[in-house]
Amino acid sequence: GFKCGIVGLPNVGKSTLFNALTRTAAAQAANYPFCTIEPNTGEVAVPDPRLKKLAAIASSKEIIPTRISFVDIAGLVRGASKGEGLGNKFLANIREVDAIVHVLRCFEDDDITHVEGRIDPVGDAETIETELMIADLESLERRAEQARKRATAKDKDSLTVLPMMEASLKLLQDGKPVRTMLKDLADEDLAILRGLNLLTSHPVLYVCNVSEEDAATGNAHTEAVAKMAAAQGAETIVVSAAIESEVAQLPDEEAKEFLGALGLDEAGLDRLIRAGYSLLDLITYFTVGPKETRAWTIERGTKAPGAAGVIHTDFERGFIRAFTIAYDDYITLGGEVPAKEAGKARDEGKEYVVQDGDVIHFRFNT
Ligand code: GDP
Repeated sequence: GFKCGIVGLPNVGKSTLFNALTRTAAAQAANYPFCTIEPNTGEVAVPDPRLKKLAAIASSKEIIPTRISFVDIAGLVRGASKGEGLGNKFLANIREVDAIVHVLRCFEDDDITHVEGRIDPVGDAETIETELMIADLESLERRAEQARKRATAKDKDSLTVLPMMEASLKLLQDGKPVRTMLKDLADEDLAILRGLNLLTSHPVLYVCNVSEEDAATGNAHTEAVAKMAAAQGAETIVVSAAIESEVAQLPDEEAKEFLGALGLDEAGLDRLIRAGYSLLDLITYFTVGPKETRAWTIERGTKAPGAAGVIHTDFERGFIRAFTIAYDDYITLGGEVPAKEAGKARDEGKEYVVQDGDVIHFRFNT
């Protein structure tokens, strides 16, 4: 599955957020209760209002949302790249994730110690980014030196990876994270870069943790973070971990009231989960029938057989066609039969790139 790693300095609210996330998942998806894979990893249901609408039309007995994982990565402090705090353990954890949710402390509270002795989320972000860049720089310098020696016609692997190593090194030496070049890369280069397993090549989402009073409005700290994030082309969301941990324990209706009284129209966690999902460049397609309406996750750009393979490898191996209706057509026309009658059901082949919201029946050989 796809994993978002939650990082941040100590005492910024990572665990509070992580615990709230794992509680709310249990409430949202009774059939897939939150499950702890490891003590610090949890799977959560991805909230998607389209599921209810599809299920209503198809009279489905069950709704099954799709899920993503969050990992609470503790132990990052100034000096982590030199082995301070949990040092290497932390670095190993972060290599396993696909995207980074960077929690920044934007709340004042004299009772909660700040490791650096002051509230400065932009400074905190730089502290962590610096540790990650140093770790990448050191590991790359070592590997690039070897690759340069080996990069001859005889060692094609080294020849292939060296340009991406050099490009990454150049960025890091200029004090820039490797992810700043992601948007300019071709697919082959992206794949090579992924293989390098760097820490600063993951996409980042900044989460500003604010006090309850600032949850609806943000504050001067969150504005500073938003400005920094915009300059990097990154997204920011404002949540109050304190509110979220309360809301996560309430039944739906009560949660809505509680949020409404605070001037919020949606739980911050729902926004966080969805932001994590889009940060990973994931999209959803649906299978819809009387038994269940179910959401499935694929990477944007996945073709029909690959999408079928998410359900079962047999579906991919024996793939014949994908009987497909766009979500909007399914809803506006009122289901599969009327969509078919209106000519809005397509029989797609193995080159079809599955779109977000597609309602699909796969036909396959067994
Ligand atoms: P972590 O070290 O980043 O995982 O931080 P924790 O989630 O353990 O939080 C550290 C302390 O800050 C705990 O005592 C939390 O209750 C407190 N805390 C977390 N979020 C908030 C918040 O939004 N406001 C206030 N006042 N305290 C918070």
